[in-house]
Amino acid sequence: MKDICSWALESDELLNYHNKEWCNIVKDDTKIFELLVLEFMQAGLSWNIILKKREFMRKEFDNFDYMKISEYSEDKIIEMLSNKNIIRNRLKIKALINNAKKFMEIQKKYHSFYNYIWTYTDFKVIKNTYNLDEERKSESYLSKMISKDLKKRGFKFLGSKVVYSFLEAIGVYNSHMQYCKYSKISNLN
Ligand SMILES: [Zn+2]
Repeated sequence: MKDICSWALESDELLNYHNKEWCNIVKDDTKIFELLVLEFMQAGLSWNIILKKREFMRKEFDNFDYMKISEYSEDKIIEMLSNKNIIRNRLKIKALINNAKKFMEIQKKYHSFYNYIWTYTDFKVIKNTYNLDEERKSESYLSKMISKDLKKRGFKFLGSKVVYSFLEAIGVYNSHMQYCKYSKISNLN
């Protein structure tokens, strides 16, 4: 197959994610939060592993309900750390709860996290025009700027590279290869 981003052909999970979700515009804040969590849970691991653990995380994290997550107790942390099907990293689990709280603070201020993030591009999709895997970027001026702002607001585990990947996940960047049949640009307005 030469009409699909080559990285997506490595596993069924990756292909499914690539075809149905990656770089699609996500407007729902709960879904945005889910993708944010998956991105920082990934740090140091492969995306394939994260996708395989996604349903286990969904169960353990109350369907990525940030309101519930923001109120997780110390007992719940201990329970999560004993669940071998999710990412058992104390710092990441702490970041999960912390980031849920910070996520809601942004919602209060900007009406929605969606609004907050898209304000950076004036609600426009940024199309990357890659032809080769080697050309793919892992961070940008924009991801650095957003990462810096999120850090200032108290978010954890959201460095510039994690943010870049997140921006692709929610469709701010369209990073499909030029030859990929999913690369057709979609815009919000
Ligand atoms: Zn693609």
